Amino acid sequence: MSFESLNLHETLGRALTAASYTEPTTVQEQAVPAALAGKDLMVSSRTGSGKTAAFMLPALTLVLKAREAQRAARAAQAAANPAAAGAEQPREPRDFREGRGRRDNRFDGPRVYTKPTGPTVLVLCPTRELAMQVAKAAMDYGRYVPNLSVATVVGGVPYPAQLKALRGPLDILIATPGRLIDHIGAGKAVLDNMQMLVLDEADRMLDMGFIDDIKHIASNTPATRQTVMFSATFAGSVGNLARELLRDPLRIDVASHTDTHADIEQRLHWADDFTHKNALLDHILTGREVEQALVFTSTQRDAEVLADRLAEMGHSVDALHGGMPQGRRNRVLQNLRSKRVRVLVATDVAARGIDVPTISHVINFGLPMKEEDYVHRIGRTGRAGRTGLAVTLAERRDFGMIQRIQRFTTQRMPVATITGLEPKRGEPVATTARPGGKPGGKPFGARPGGFGGKPFRPAGKPFAKKAGPRPAR
Ligand code: AMP
Repeated sequence: MSFESLNLHETLGRALTAASYTEPTTVQEQAVPAALAGKDLMVSSRTGSGKTAAFMLPALTLVLKAREAQRAARAAQAAANPAAAGAEQPREPRDFREGRGRRDNRFDGPRVYTKPTGPTVLVLCPTRELAMQVAKAAMDYGRYVPNLSVATVVGGVPYPAQLKALRGPLDILIATPGRLIDHIGAGKAVLDNMQMLVLDEADRMLDMGFIDDIKHIASNTPATRQTVMFSATFAGSVGNLARELLRDPLRIDVASHTDTHADIEQRLHWADDFTHKNALLDHILTGREVEQALVFTSTQRDAEVLADRLAEMGHSVDALHGGMPQGRRNRVLQNLRSKRVRVLVATDVAARGIDVPTISHVINFGLPMKEEDYVHRIGRTGRAGRTGLAVTLAERRDFGMIQRIQRFTTQRMPVATITGLEPKRGEPVATTARPGGKPGGKPFGARPGGFGGKPFRPAGKPFAKKAGPRPAR
């Protein structure tokens, strides 16, 4: 299928050509025509599959149509009553004087002052980073849409700029649920004219406890809206939410967590202890094939401490986690994109929206808390047609989680070693009974001997010593 056959607006076609996209990805092929036809959608597709364009191209199409309709209405009004249309210009209406309106000069024809009308499209995202990423995609794909107005409303940043943006004119609003609820509560967010609601990474938003916020936001939007929901899974509460918010949805399941991730090579290194794990990391990071690396830790503190240690070793490195102020997080991401930073040490939530195609390596230094986060993590590499390497460094105590991840992805992580840094102890194997009495089985490459079920003492104390301050970067 070609982009031409999607019959997109000429401005969008030009943007795709400028982005050097030659053909739609699978999710775009399936979701774009259905969304353009006005269908509600439930979509599961892996990160890096092009899902942002899958909803942003139809969203921008709606924006263009809404403008066309407004332009036609203005023209009809002017034709019916030319005197009134002309007379309106020099007068400053009450709304504008009170600061609630804004001059809307995006359209052809007479310039008029309008009340805030709110966005045509609202996208809800779980994290600030993802919201920023979606906003960037909106500006990229909408780069030839004249005066396109895209705003983000996310937590952790000051209110005034957001209030100004909400007064409009506004085409696409991208928000995290918590902050948008604040604005709705204060009567500052108008959602009456919204035509499309997009829920991106809905499963993640529910994990983060946003379910009531999402329902409240949806109840403030027109019932006639189109709703598009993206989620890794539609099981359980996400499915219930979909049933509540979507009308006769089309289900699109492009790829699931059991995807083979053909563009991402996965490797598992067993480490004897924490010191060994650090040595493996140091060896990998000094490799010339590392263009940029994203190193995951389990906690914010671990991210800080590890970034400090790597900086002391001379790496251009920064940390990214949810405990950092938004301004700093934005600067870190800018530094990553502009390649001023080669190694980024991050936690799961903070790294969720990162889309930097030059990330050649994802390294799991600390394992994720949930197996689905492993899939999100490795999806940060192998993007936009490139290949990537996802390396997991595990100690024996991580064996349970490694098994859970392998069961979740239904794939084995191939075990690898580095010459001179081989583990002294053999590879752990599954036992017939797991702690808690549940049958463990021998799912992946289990072999007799080795770790068995014996208790072991985690060797090395993670981050026992606080490293010195990072040199100025
Ligand atoms: P996403 O899944 O939306 O995060 O997109 C992953 C990456 O694929 C982004 O870097 C996009 O710019 C890129 N991308 C999206 N659609 C296409 C396409 N049709 N052709 C080539 N690259 C694309």
